[in-house]
Amino acid sequence: MKATRQDEMTPYNEIADICKCGSNDKVNRICNPVKGWYFKSCPKGTQKFYCNTCAKDHRQHQQETWIPGENKRILAVYGEVQHKISNLNENVRALMGAYGPLIEILDKAVTNKQKTLQAVFIEIQQLQQDQETFYRQKIQERSIICALHKHAEEIDQFYIKLKNATAKYADYIKNAASILWMHYGNIILSVDSSPILKLQDEKQIQMFLRIKEQKIAHFIEEMTTGERPKTLDILEDEQRLIQEINQTVLVKLNSLSGAFTTKRTHEASFIRSQIDIVSRDLMLREMWQEMQSIKQNQNIRSSQDPQQQMH
Ligand SMILES: [Zn+2]
Ligand SMILES: [Zn+2]
Repeated sequence: MKATRQDEMTPYNEIADICKCGSNDKVNRICNPVKGWYFKSCPKGTQKFYCNTCAKDHRQHQQETWIPGENKRILAVYGEVQHKISNLNENVRALMGAYGPLIEILDKAVTNKQKTLQAVFIEIQQLQQDQETFYRQKIQERSIICALHKHAEEIDQFYIKLKNATAKYADYIKNAASILWMHYGNIILSVDSSPILKLQDEKQIQMFLRIKEQKIAHFIEEMTTGERPKTLDILEDEQRLIQEINQTVLVKLNSLSGAFTTKRTHEASFIRSQIDIVSRDLMLREMWQEMQSIKQNQNIRSSQDPQQQMH
């Protein structure tokens, strides 16, 4: 059943302020609740909150703004941005949880320390904390006692700050690969892979190599077409094996035709060396994995050994 205005007003009336007009009635309406809603012809435009008696003088209002309704509106509008900030924070937190050590290594290669992913994460966390504090101090209690409308300007100011932040960080609600690409796509080929291979976490190593392959593929495509490619086909297809991607980009590089200027020769040999590095990294990785499985088998065998079990 839909709540009627009467239902809405009954609990509010118990806590409402008395109108300044002297009627002894309680205020229940708002004049000019938000900028642009003000009617110049309103004779009591300066009296923001008014009662039934005053309503006669506010007759020019095309629609009445009821205080409980306005409180609901403020809470709902704030709630939307509150939800967005919380999602943003959760997404970046999950990213840090999954790729923290890789991010730490890659951030070292970012020259502007304010632009590191770790710096962005701290900013977003701070934003979430500020939001929680604001909600606790300025919204929660006031929404219960239906007093948000009295602080609309203050809430609006903070709301705009949060809204701007969600726009600024809009790209950080994307998936891990997109965020990592955005931060490290341009520097990935200059990062030394050895500390990353030592991470021994398959998921992080795979991600690193995938970003690298994407950059190599872009580089070759740019050499071919002269245009900067926009698609992230390699990052989007998580099923494709790095080995196979690396083969494909090598074939593409070898099939480059046309006149080879000095610059082009230089670029081609740079990309070839990058493809070689990935091949080498994959080999090292495979050797390491084989060693691990031998070690594991030995452990299983020794634990199954009855001679050892007796001790
Ligand atoms: Zn008015
Ligand atoms: Zn009044």
